Amino acid sequence: MLFQISERVLRVLKAVTEPREAIKDVVKEPAHKSPVFRGRHVVRYDICTGCDACNKICPVDAIKMKPLPIKRPNKVPEVNLAICIFCGLCEDVCPTKPEKAIKLSGGDIEMITHDGTHDTLENFWVRVDVPEEWIEKKKKEEEEKARKKAEMLAKKKAEAEAKKKAEAEAKKQESEAPKGEEK
Ligand code: SF4
Ligand code: SF4
Repeated sequence: MLFQISERVLRVLKAVTEPREAIKDVVKEPAHKSPVFRGRHVVRYDICTGCDACNKICPVDAIKMKPLPIKRPNKVPEVNLAICIFCGLCEDVCPTKPEKAIKLSGGDIEMITHDGTHDTLENFWVRVDVPEEWIEKKKKEEEEKARKKAEMLAKKKAEAEAKKKAEAEAKKQESEAPKGEEK
């Protein structure tokens, strides 16, 4: 009994006092190699519809929608990784097909940046840089679409008015036509 106790004490003492070396340098060797690892988000502004579903479902309010000066998408999500819990709900709920406009890319530990002080908190955001040229191109496309729609509506309106006029004319002619003699 006494032997067993002293053996355990020795083992604990050895564990506490013996210098240990880390088997792995986790800073240099990325640990997240699993294919199911939910890593940093990738946002595809070019297929995002701005539906806001990712923002609404986020359980910790880690998503902030960035407004854009176009109709679709009129906003795109940006993610604060400092409060994100990597649940993946934003990706699950995103309706775009076949690709998701927001997805957790996996295997990326670049989100762990610098020292996380207030000066570097910007590094914890997944920002979406939408190029000016793309915005301008979308604006032109939207203007062209709006012009075509207005043209079509004007055409339909003119056709409806012409039809109405023809019907009224026919009615007038019918009422003015000489009635058959009564017997
Ligand atoms: S992974 Fe979860 S917590 Fe992170 S932004 Fe998406 S919904 Fe929010
Ligand atoms: S990323 Fe997906 S869910 Fe979020 S606003 Fe865009 S389309 Fe909607």
